[in-house]
Amino acid sequence: MKPVLALVGRPNVGKSTLFNRLTRTRDALVADVPGLTRDRKYGAGKIGERPYVVIDTGGIGEGLEGVAEPTTEQAELALAEADAVLFLVDGRAGLTAADQQLAQQMRTLGKPVHLVVNKTDGLDEDAASAEFYALGLSDVHAIAAVQGRGVRRLIDRVLETF
Ligand code: GDP
Ligand code: MG
Repeated sequence: MKPVLALVGRPNVGKSTLFNRLTRTRDALVADVPGLTRDRKYGAGKIGERPYVVIDTGGIGEGLEGVAEPTTEQAELALAEADAVLFLVDGRAGLTAADQQLAQQMRTLGKPVHLVVNKTDGLDEDAASAEFYALGLSDVHAIAAVQGRGVRRLIDRVLETF
C-alpha cells in the first residue's frame, strides 16, 4: 500500500510547488479528483522504488483575507486520510502566529508530522531552520521546493517508517 502524505501549511509556503515536484516523475499520475473538492488535490509519485500518494491541501488556513483560520473541513479530511503529514513553513518569512496555531493542531493528530522549512535556497539551512524548533516538532528538514534541494532526503526520511 502506498503511504499517503498530506502537505499542510499556511498559504504561500510552497505546498503546491512541492506537490508538483513530488508528482513530477515518469510514473506520475497527477489529477484533480473531479467533483470531490477543489481543496484537495491528489497525485502519485515515486522516489527510487518507493511509491507514495500526496495530497495538496489548498484549503488549510486559507480563510478570509489572509486571516489564519483552523483547518477547513476539506483539509481536515485530508489530514484524516494521511499516513504522514508534511507541515510546511517559510524559511524566508520566518515563524508566524499561523504556523504556531497549525503546529498545535498537528500535535494532536497522533500521526507522524515532519516539519519542512521551505524556501531555504540561498540561505544557511541551519540558521533558517533554527527558530522553527520552537514549534516543538523534532523532525525538521530544510528544503527548497522550487529547486528540489533537500526533497529527496526529506521523502526518504518520511517513507522510512512505512
Ligand atoms: P502554497 O500557497 O503553499 O501552495 O504555495 P505555492 O506553492 O503556491 O508557492 C507560493 C510562492 O512561493 C510561489 O511564488 C512560489 O514560486 C514560491 N516558492 C515555493 N517554493 C519556493 C522555494 O523553495 N524557494 C523560493 N525562493 N520560493 C518558493
Ligand atoms: Mg497551493
